[in-house]
Amino acid sequence: MENIEKAKIPAPNGLTLLYETSCDCGETVKVYEAEIMGGPKKGQMKEFRFGCKCEEKKLAKEAQEQLKRLKHSKAMQAFDRHSLVNRALSRATFDNYETANESQERALRNAKKFVEKFHPHKPINLYYSGDPGLGKSHLSVSIANAVMEKGYPAIFISVPKLLRKIRNTYNKNSDVSEDQLFSILEQIDLLVLDDIGAENRNDWVEEKLFDLIDNRQGRSTIYTSNYGPDELKQLMGERDASRIINEDAYTIELKGDNYRTKGLRANG
Ligand SMILES: [Zn+2]
Repeated sequence: MENIEKAKIPAPNGLTLLYETSCDCGETVKVYEAEIMGGPKKGQMKEFRFGCKCEEKKLAKEAQEQLKRLKHSKAMQAFDRHSLVNRALSRATFDNYETANESQERALRNAKKFVEKFHPHKPINLYYSGDPGLGKSHLSVSIANAVMEKGYPAIFISVPKLLRKIRNTYNKNSDVSEDQLFSILEQIDLLVLDDIGAENRNDWVEEKLFDLIDNRQGRSTIYTSNYGPDELKQLMGERDASRIINEDAYTIELKGDNYRTKGLRANG
């Protein structure tokens, strides 16, 4: 690819046009630069290319390859979805999510939209709250399954189970290290943390949980919780709660009576 000398030219939308170049595919590409607004790379400059689809295709191919590598890694086997989700929930889809009221209909629409818009480099966080039995886990398993069908790796795990898995890595006989688990959890394109707030909190739990959450800045995470956003603030304190419900997050509250899927039992 031929690079034309970099010269900063002002451009709209907070982007700075760096230069124009011609891509191998023959199209003219404009290369812009913008500051990264959040996450571990906050403040650094990042280049964006507009004009052809090569970059997108390259990213999609990388995602596929990453998925292949992840699927065959030992650490990923610790997150085998069949071991994490009970049998009924593993069959959860948008089609067998039964809505009984407006809040559930809205949640279903948002869930589908999330999948439609899902892109590993455009993080969106969802925070589902509501009483047990309204289908929060059903919806988030359905999302994880649909995102995987699009070709992106996803993990669904309850927070108490996740903490047990981390503790298990301290066992001498564990064939997976804590670092390996964390590297998967931090890098997976979509992580669903089910039932946040249900964990027994102590310093260790908070350190592990918030290390993970902070290191996932820039990636999409879905939370389900029996606690509404305000209750979460009371439970964790405003500062910690705002690391979960951050500027990338949408809060979705489920209301209504206890929930059952068609012929399935849902546990969340
Ligand atoms: Zn191109």
